[in-house]
Amino acid sequence: MCFRVYATTYQTMENENKSIHEFDFSLICAYFSSVERQGPGSPEATLKALSFVDNLTDRSLIADIGCGTGGQTMVLAQHAPGRITGLDLFPGFIDLFNANAAKLNLQERVHGVVGSMDALPFHKKELDLIWSEGAIYNIGFQLGINLWRNYLKKGGYLVVSENCWFTDERPDEIHNFWMGIYPEIDTIANKIAQLQTAGYTLVACFVLPEECWTKHFYMPLKVVQEKFLKKYRGNKTAEEFIAWERHEEALYHKYKAYYGYTFFIAKKAEL
Ligand code: SAH
Repeated sequence: MCFRVYATTYQTMENENKSIHEFDFSLICAYFSSVERQGPGSPEATLKALSFVDNLTDRSLIADIGCGTGGQTMVLAQHAPGRITGLDLFPGFIDLFNANAAKLNLQERVHGVVGSMDALPFHKKELDLIWSEGAIYNIGFQLGINLWRNYLKKGGYLVVSENCWFTDERPDEIHNFWMGIYPEIDTIANKIAQLQTAGYTLVACFVLPEECWTKHFYMPLKVVQEKFLKKYRGNKTAEEFIAWERHEEALYHKYKAYYGYTFFIAKKAEL
């Protein structure tokens, strides 16, 4: 889980809230740019979610919102027909995204654009599929699903992954950690109810396997952390940032029975 720093504040290990302006974005971009994924997930999980989507053709329009450098987008593009627009707030990620698309010879159908997920650059009712892995929390699940619905065609799909509680109760340490970062974190049942209220019908929902956090996310970052600390030795912001990342990972190992990313595959309901 990264880029909570894109919210207006981020938390230090001492639980002070710091303004986003106090943090150097280029540091974080450098940190996450060198890994394939900027959030928990895997090619297998992406393909499993895609297997529930049945309306795509060569003429389909797909958006991947909060696409990062496009790890999951390229998997999607290699297994689904249609044109894909990746959207991310961070220009450095979009540059890498477009370079990745070109490397895989996908540039004719896969384009990255800089933009914000709360002001989508699409026409209303034009999209067949909205995809978003580990990113909707930046504007909040409920706002996201409500705003994005306007851009889906009749019968269009929303495929979104979100960090959820697995149980009704949990130890204070992990409860307070996630509530401090993302107060909208909720149980899977409540997220499904929110989708229904927002005008979607649920097609499928599954919890991402543990390796989406470990093998595909935290492990590749370990090497990056070492390099990063060496490069920015003495930079307090950089050190605090890595300490925070490591703290998040340690909590995951301790409390993974209580929370995890969950994929929701939903269809725009006929209202
Ligand atoms: N989907 C990718 C990246 C997840 S990290 C993956 O699974 O690997 C979350 C992404 O959301 C980051 O790339 C971040 O730059 C982007 N982001 C944060 N706030 C955003 C906003 N308001 N609009 C669009 N993208 C945003």
